[in-house]
Amino acid sequence: MNTTANLTPSLLDQFGIAAAARGGSLRVASPVDGAELAQVRTHSAADAKAIIGNAQQAFLAWRAVPAPRRGELIRLLGDELRAEKQALGQLVSIETGKILSEGLGEVQEMIDICDFALGLSRQLYGLTIASERPGHRMMETWHPLGVVGVISAFNFPVAVWAWNFALAIVCGNAVVWKPSEKTPLSALACQAIFEKAAARFGGAPANLSQVVIGDHTVGEALVDDERVALVSATGSTRMGREVAPRVARRFGRSLLELGGNNAVIVAPTADLDLAVRGIAFAAAGTCGQRCTTTRRLIVHESVKEALVSRLKKAYAALPVGNPLESGVLVGPLIDGRSFEAMQSALRKAREDGGTVTGGERLLQDKFPSAYYVRPAIVEMPSQTAVVCAETFAPILYVLTYSDFADAIRLQNDVPQGLSSSIFSNDVRETELFLSAAGSDCGIANVNIGTSGAEIGGAFGGEKETGGGRESGSDAWRNYMRRATNTINYSRELPLAQGVRFDV
Ligand code: NAD
Repeated sequence: MNTTANLTPSLLDQFGIAAAARGGSLRVASPVDGAELAQVRTHSAADAKAIIGNAQQAFLAWRAVPAPRRGELIRLLGDELRAEKQALGQLVSIETGKILSEGLGEVQEMIDICDFALGLSRQLYGLTIASERPGHRMMETWHPLGVVGVISAFNFPVAVWAWNFALAIVCGNAVVWKPSEKTPLSALACQAIFEKAAARFGGAPANLSQVVIGDHTVGEALVDDERVALVSATGSTRMGREVAPRVARRFGRSLLELGGNNAVIVAPTADLDLAVRGIAFAAAGTCGQRCTTTRRLIVHESVKEALVSRLKKAYAALPVGNPLESGVLVGPLIDGRSFEAMQSALRKAREDGGTVTGGERLLQDKFPSAYYVRPAIVEMPSQTAVVCAETFAPILYVLTYSDFADAIRLQNDVPQGLSSSIFSNDVRETELFLSAAGSDCGIANVNIGTSGAEIGGAFGGEKETGGGRESGSDAWRNYMRRATNTINYSRELPLAQGVRFDV
């Protein structure tokens, strides 16, 4: 029988990480069936310090390698990921509980960012700037930054690393990665895949890529170490609140990708067929455990009945179950705590006058140690405190509006600012939604849902989401330092702003 406990050993062997997954103190269980998969060896804060020192040495060598050559290493990483896509995607599904097609999609995202970073390795462009002084030239150049610390969340255990890693490496940095303590196996597999690429590359410095395994205490070692030039941290807003001031205290740089509370507005002109499909995927997919999951539906009162009844029907028919089986669309929650958090939010919503459909535990007989749920739809009288908080579970709160200005106000009136979208065929509404007076999120979409971003755009959000941007566009600049250069090729020494200082 294909249980996670049966499937995992051969995957660990395939990646050559079976030894690291035995005899350690970190117990890893699959959310699919609760089975123990491994006991992974962990690092101490002192180990993390030594690892950072090794990374610093790697950085000093790597920054001197021409960027297009650095890109070649990432091209090889992309090659290796293509070869291991099936196995890594399966391991991601086993460790996170996301359906196999999403596990594979996550690996595809890694391959895509490798392609992007390879092209970028020949396009780390600076500027030439007109100087106000005769015989002078100004320019801006971008240099490697140093050691990049990556702290990642359980729900995208490999793609988030790849977004950071591929860019950081072509930008000339060394990376130390602290994955979520819930998903160390996927991280060890990525490290093994990278090492294959590095062996084919030949001559890359040792310790360009390292993984530190452990809980927040090893994360804190990265956060507090002044040799870590950039801390890229993905996770809850709670984590960001701890990390950001600590990094700032030592004047380090941080890139924060924190919680979201994403809304979809559905206007009277919306194509409801599209809206139902877009919302069901974004709200219930990945069992509501994406940072971009749709958590709020703000629907015009004239279409509320039609839309919500169709959504309820779609939700009732959603195949919830073992995410490794084909046909299943919704896997489990990550663990029992997550299930408790969902139930607590539903209780609060009821107390606030909400009407809950779904949300109950499923498949308890078959999987007593796993937490499957029917995704919930909760019709709310208003946007109460529980609606304003991110509960990392499939709860879709429904709010209605009559005036479009109210819809935008509701959309923006939460502490988070990650992703948003509108379903409408009224160009005035969609343009207003995308304008400065519209959505205040880092991601604003029209006629598609809030989740499932492509790597070409900058990814991230405002307010409590942390303000960071990763992946495409000019996010590479996070991983470099900027120098402004002024060159005098004249025989005079004019000063800027006409200042005279004749000696
Ligand atoms: P989490 O905050 O519990 O943990 C994330 C990571 O931070 C883990 O590796 C953890 O060990 C580490 N950590 C926690 N406290 C720390 C500290 N004080 N110092 C250093 N490291 C620390 O998050 P989670 O439950 O794994 O993931 C779910 C959360 O992540 C949700 O809020 C979700 O919205 C968010 N998320 C955001 C994005 C994004 O791009 N904005 C992407 C994925 C997930």
